[in-house]
Amino acid sequence: MSFANLNIIDPLLRALAKEGYTTPTPIQMLAIPPLLDGKDLVGIAQTGTGKTAAFVLPILQRMMAERKSSPPGVPRVLVLAPTRELAAQIGQSFATYGQFLRFRHLVIFGGVRQGPQVQMLSRGVDILIATPGRLLDLMNQGYIELKGVEFFVLDEIDRMLDMGFIKDVRRVVSALPKKRNSLFFSATMSKQTGEFAESFLCDPVHVEAAHSTCTLDCIDQSIFFVDQNSKNSLLLELIREGDMERVLVFARTKHRADKVALMLEKNRIRADAIHGNKSQNQREKAMHNFKSGHIQVLVATDIAARGIDIDDITHVVNYDLPNEPESYVHRIGRTGRAGASGTAFSFCAADERSFLRDIERLTREQIKVAEHQFHSEKAESAVGAAAKPVPPNRSRVTQRSIQTKSMGKPAPRRSHTARVGY
Ligand code: AMP
Repeated sequence: MSFANLNIIDPLLRALAKEGYTTPTPIQMLAIPPLLDGKDLVGIAQTGTGKTAAFVLPILQRMMAERKSSPPGVPRVLVLAPTRELAAQIGQSFATYGQFLRFRHLVIFGGVRQGPQVQMLSRGVDILIATPGRLLDLMNQGYIELKGVEFFVLDEIDRMLDMGFIKDVRRVVSALPKKRNSLFFSATMSKQTGEFAESFLCDPVHVEAAHSTCTLDCIDQSIFFVDQNSKNSLLLELIREGDMERVLVFARTKHRADKVALMLEKNRIRADAIHGNKSQNQREKAMHNFKSGHIQVLVATDIAARGIDIDDITHVVNYDLPNEPESYVHRIGRTGRAGASGTAFSFCAADERSFLRDIERLTREQIKVAEHQFHSEKAESAVGAAAKPVPPNRSRVTQRSIQTKSMGKPAPRRSHTARVGY
């Protein structure tokens, strides 16, 4: 996967190449396509994941699609950041990625004289990056008018709320035009942050990036074709044979996560499971034991893994493939930290073969096939109904008859959200 595959325009590709960036990070890969399509977005991502380029690149590209000059004090883009340091960094990113474009950006924050900022505003800026206090100040004095904002980015919402900016942010939002694109980022997503974000967004796409700064290219991915009933043996063999220090295993359901953790424990591998049916206490204990190295393997569902904050995961194992391809990128993005490479093993049984096709379509890469003693030819070559899971309580015959009945109807549109699977 390269930036060119994401349909990034030439002047931006040149800027990226100049920085030495050729491959998108997971959050860039997940966020850029929907943003180029004009979707709103909620991103859970810390600094260090490449999140700034994930919004700066598509915003610049979309601004290019409709060139127009910004009148004095009427920006097309507004980015709100909680601190002056972050605002300055974002400004630097607009300068770096936009170096071959002719947009004007300005960073404004308090604690310094407003004169030079006002002067710059009067010349017209396309992109305004601001901390809330100074922005409101200059708006109240009539130097800034938000009616022309097409793109509104709120960065580090969690910090913004912690720092007591909630009222200020609401005031800013109320001055924005209704028709706009909104992009919200937060390092963590509490109920409060989530509700706050959703109240300003329209049918947003959700993306999440863990700590990894590493692009998908530095994650060593392989696929293991295996029958469902050999998955346990394969997992045991991998853990016993390999140098797998801290392993995050993904299972499709809570029940399966429990079963896998139990199976591992019976085989003297220190493991625990986290999922929605576990109490907060149990989850915290499992996380603590995993972080401290007391347990080697944590088995999780996608939902439980959301937002978990663990460094140094050496291996991600997809015991079950996710039915949403975006979840695959979320999952494997949890391994591979700055400088260190990570490893992702994915098990694919016959009835998951179609999920693998969807994943490879999304990443535009064929995952290398691992050789192993439990290899299943049936899984590798499954097509049609055999490559899909059988819905619960239905036999293959019933499923086939249902499919025949619906033949001729258009395929249901796949949801554009990357959230499913969390
Ligand atoms: P951020 O999370 O936006 O603070 O970015 C973290 C660091 O990663 C910054 O120094 C970026 O310049 C860098 N970076 C952003 N995108 C990429 C990429 N695709 N490949 C390598 N480094 C990147």
